[in-house]
Amino acid sequence: MTMNSQGRPTRAESAGTTEEASDTPTLTGNRGLMIRESLIFEKDAFGRTGVDLPEPKPRANRLGGLERREGIGLPGLSEPETMRHFVRLSQKNYAIDMGPFPLGSCTMKHNPRLNEKMARLPGFADVHPMQPEATVQGALELIHVLARWLKELTGMPAVAMSPKAGAHGELCGMMAIKAAIEAKEEAATRVRVLAPESAHGTNPATAVQCGFRVDAIPADKTGRVDLNALKEKLGEDVAAIMVTNPNTCGLFEHDIRDIADAVHAVGGYFYCDGANFNAIAGKARPGDLGVDAMHINLHKTFSTPHGGGGPGSGPTVLSEALAPFAPVPFIVERNGRFHLIERREAAKSAGAEGAESFGRMTAFHGQMGMFVRALSYMLSHGADGVVRAAEDAVLNANYVLARLRSELTAAFDGYCMHEALFDDRFLKGTGVETIDFAKAMIDEGFHPMTMYFPLVVHGAMLIEPTESESKAELDKFCDALLSLARRAKAGEVAAFKAAPRHAPLRRLDETSAARKPVLRWTPPQPAEAAE
Ligand SMILES: *Cc1c(COP(=O)(O)O)cnc(C)c1O
Repeated sequence: MTMNSQGRPTRAESAGTTEEASDTPTLTGNRGLMIRESLIFEKDAFGRTGVDLPEPKPRANRLGGLERREGIGLPGLSEPETMRHFVRLSQKNYAIDMGPFPLGSCTMKHNPRLNEKMARLPGFADVHPMQPEATVQGALELIHVLARWLKELTGMPAVAMSPKAGAHGELCGMMAIKAAIEAKEEAATRVRVLAPESAHGTNPATAVQCGFRVDAIPADKTGRVDLNALKEKLGEDVAAIMVTNPNTCGLFEHDIRDIADAVHAVGGYFYCDGANFNAIAGKARPGDLGVDAMHINLHKTFSTPHGGGGPGSGPTVLSEALAPFAPVPFIVERNGRFHLIERREAAKSAGAEGAESFGRMTAFHGQMGMFVRALSYMLSHGADGVVRAAEDAVLNANYVLARLRSELTAAFDGYCMHEALFDDRFLKGTGVETIDFAKAMIDEGFHPMTMYFPLVVHGAMLIEPTESESKAELDKFCDALLSLARRAKAGEVAAFKAAPRHAPLRRLDETSAARKPVLRWTPPQPAEAAE
């Protein structure tokens, strides 16, 4: 297998090369009661439909010859065929409701059903973003209360609620930083953004999007920002530093105050990637750590559903220095009424928050359904429950770290926060790579952890169990991984290369799927018409 310098495969092993890969094929292509499913367009049959509509009454044609002459290419299926198609597809989708989802950095925790119930209340589910303010006071109040919780938990004076995901929240924070720099007339000189090597890809991408140049800070031996290397890179041209805390190695950056002070001393801002807030919610406040802006992934920390492309939500808290540049819209409360400040001119007269707003990031006010779910999570847990969730998340990760240490190689010494990072040293000489190990986990019924991220360790495996998993579930997971590690060391390399053997599809060429996606179905050419 071809590997890049991080030990990440650059192309897939071709499937079915080993003997074991040729499992007995079935006539239908189905495996057990897992039904093979073709594309909906391939199931199309002319004239089939799920509804009976009366023949339209003849009318005078007023289209002046512009009417469509061919069909529009919608697939024709009956109602039961449509139903089965989508249910079968849904069953191929692994979900947090089916089992553990140990993806590191993703915080795939259980989505409490109470939250779903609240989000479906007609007063929340049915509101329209263009309803008059007077008719949506409850919805505005909910956003306002949620904002208060977020400010309280982070110790920050302001929060922009409209960003729609973590990456969007990063963009919000960095745009506020950019606006603050422009207001100081330093835009021409403050052009550099520092980010650790272990940063999530969205951090440098956001900085570049905002017109900055990214400069990587190396990690020290303990997996944290190398403070001396950072200080050497500081200068008057530094616009900001982007640091994740706890970082993507699952470790708390204990020099965080010194990092903040050093960056502030040269006139730069501190953007904190708050995706891992689940580990410290209620325990440490980013506002006390010198943070100027931080996004919060409601879809991670506050249990709103994600995975599979559902909506996220990335409210971004802002410090005193950045609050005036907050985007519109935001909500202000006056005499018990809630008002949406939608325009920059209105923001100017509304007070400190957003007085110099950099503008608008999104058409409306943010992800209402996610706001309801997140607030429902907070209120049902209470202040003590939120702290307990963070503590249990850290406890669970350390349990996994402690149990797996005997066979797998932990990337760093000591305890971890909410996720446990392993590298591939334990596989050295076995012929088994991180990717084979992950594929073999699928056969054992476990969704793999995050692999090959962060880039600072070779062949990374990042496990985030979250607080939702019971000890019994964690034990089963650890037992499976320990057994796989022993089998790899015992020389069962062929079995690993052939995995997954029990999945509907086997080894896929994931690199090509990502680099050269085929997003369009082209109908097979009809057989040549006989002349
Ligand atoms: C998830 C994550 C992001 C991005 O959040 P999205 O909601 O996926 O855009 C950024 N940084 C880190 C560390 C993350 O884990």
